[in-house]
Amino acid sequence: MNVPLAELSDVRKVYGSGAAEVTALGGVSLAVEAGELVAIMGASGSGKSTLLAITGTLETPTAGTVRISGLDAGAMTPRQRARLRRRALGFVFQDFNLVPTLTAVENVALPLELDGIPLREARRAAADSLGWVGLAGLEGRYPDDLSGGQRQRVAIARATVGPRELILADEPTGALDSDTGEVVLTMLRRRIDEGAGGLLVTHDARYAAWADRVVFLKDGRIVDESRPEPVSMDALDASARQEPS
Ligand code: ADP
Ligand code: MG
Repeated sequence: MNVPLAELSDVRKVYGSGAAEVTALGGVSLAVEAGELVAIMGASGSGKSTLLAITGTLETPTAGTVRISGLDAGAMTPRQRARLRRRALGFVFQDFNLVPTLTAVENVALPLELDGIPLREARRAAADSLGWVGLAGLEGRYPDDLSGGQRQRVAIARATVGPRELILADEPTGALDSDTGEVVLTMLRRRIDEGAGGLLVTHDARYAAWADRVVFLKDGRIVDESRPEPVSMDALDASARQEPS
């Protein structure tokens, strides 16, 4: 049996206390295997972002366990969790979260540099990663001089640079038009097909259809699960050829 890249067991998350208490997750169990993209759908406030933040060890659960590649995140020190995030996890958010004063290649190299990888090596890996998302030649651009789709591709390059193997994307297409959103999803899907695992929060059934599994959250609980028909490689190639504006 392969160890899942991420495994949540009966995870609960309660914010606040007393009258202000909010149960964001009410006992969620979920595993993500290598090569698997799991989409999370649900109404606003159903706990999707909390689920992603807990899987990414950015938040700690009130109860239950989170294992990343078999290691219990709750048993780690904050420092060990920070190192795990820098090395093994990649995050993509709706608002890109790029550093405006760094060029594209510097943004992508940042997690590697923070992890102590020598500058030249980090920049080389970052340039490779930018080439992989179709941004060769734009390494020196600042985020302000890139389109929304290009910025999100920089964010995907950063989330997947180096050896990281679990990609956590919270509405990555939320700020993009549909053509650009499809290109970004194509990049994500490719990386998953190369062996990463991914959790994708989305409101959009079109994007959820690219997942291997769709999990539906309601009031902090998984209420349904489905397996979309696989998206054909022809459709993947067609959308990968579209150049976003
Ligand atoms: P979604 O991403 O599906 O919109 P969230 O995970 O953001 O849902 O939120 C789930 C519930 O937890 C909501 O009721 C939200 O108001 C609450 N919540 C989320 N983050 C916090 C926080 N930091 N403090 C207090 N309540 C929070
Ligand atoms: Mg959210």
